[in-house]
Amino acid sequence: MEGDLVEELEVSLEATLAQLQGTETVDVLKVQQAIIRAAHQFMFERGLVQVMPLMLSPITDPLNHGVVDASIAYAGCRWSLTKSMIFHKQLALLNPALEALYIVSPNVRLEFADRAFTGRHLFEFTQIDFEFRDKDGVFVRSFMEDLLRYLFAAVQKDLPEIVSKYRPEGLCQIGELEIFRTEDLEAQYGPDYEHVKSKEAQLPFWLLNHRREFYDKEDPAKPGTYLNYDLIWPEGFGEGLSGAERENEYHQILKRMEEAGTDQQAFKHYLKVAQQGLPRSAGAGFGVERMARFICRIKDINDVALFPRRPGTPALF
Ligand code: AMP
Ligand code: MG
Repeated sequence: MEGDLVEELEVSLEATLAQLQGTETVDVLKVQQAIIRAAHQFMFERGLVQVMPLMLSPITDPLNHGVVDASIAYAGCRWSLTKSMIFHKQLALLNPALEALYIVSPNVRLEFADRAFTGRHLFEFTQIDFEFRDKDGVFVRSFMEDLLRYLFAAVQKDLPEIVSKYRPEGLCQIGELEIFRTEDLEAQYGPDYEHVKSKEAQLPFWLLNHRREFYDKEDPAKPGTYLNYDLIWPEGFGEGLSGAERENEYHQILKRMEEAGTDQQAFKHYLKVAQQGLPRSAGAGFGVERMARFICRIKDINDVALFPRRPGTPALF
């Protein structure tokens, strides 16, 4: 028994070390570095202020899917590891001197083991998260298209050998991206519409109207639909970004929390602020690892992480 365990550990140590020392791993690291470096520059040029990431908070994103709880007790309070900084983005915009902000934000989401081999899920990743006061989805989507154009140009310029190794045709040209709605694609392709459309697409596209967390605004002109948007990578790489106009009116937040079955007690201070008035805002966040995975055409996001974080699976380091 003990011998088996030692053998198993030795095998995974070998695999772990092989990945740690692989050339592809370093290619992806360089792509991630180029993305983050260019993103900082772009945000600076566009006047977004960088907010430092938080890793612990009494409130974090409730997400629209289940994950294993990641919280600790400290100072008489329960602190969750950050799943996303959505609420902190909204609260930061209470400061009248801040109109737009971004965070390079480490997120911990202890995804269940059924996401181990989706190719897209880590249980720890980094998202570049941004938010604008008084802007709408049209503005944010156009901002993201500009950012994407800028990032791809930077990666192409900084890392020509790596780009031509994985994408001999070069990175795709980003113009105004096509926009689809979930209900239309579902009618056309059935329940697996996002995946089917992503596989068929040659360029990233927008997908509007997802039913999810209470903080994504319901369309007042069409209740039951939502003013949110995902950017979907083509070639089957799937979702790369999620964003929305935010639900900022108190009564509407309460209604949406009730629909989602959210524990209002856990959000009592946030709700108190919402009652006094949250700013109108819109924003989005994209996963750095998923963008690098798309650029390098890597099938499994875990195969190129320097330290794999495969859902539901132990790691050695
Ligand atoms: P969300 O707001 O939940 O859609 O997360 C924002 C973005 O973070 C997503 O669009 C992905 O690019 C990225 N992301 C979310 N969950 C994961 C995960 N488990 N592993 C890697 N990237 C993720
Ligand atoms: Mg999402």
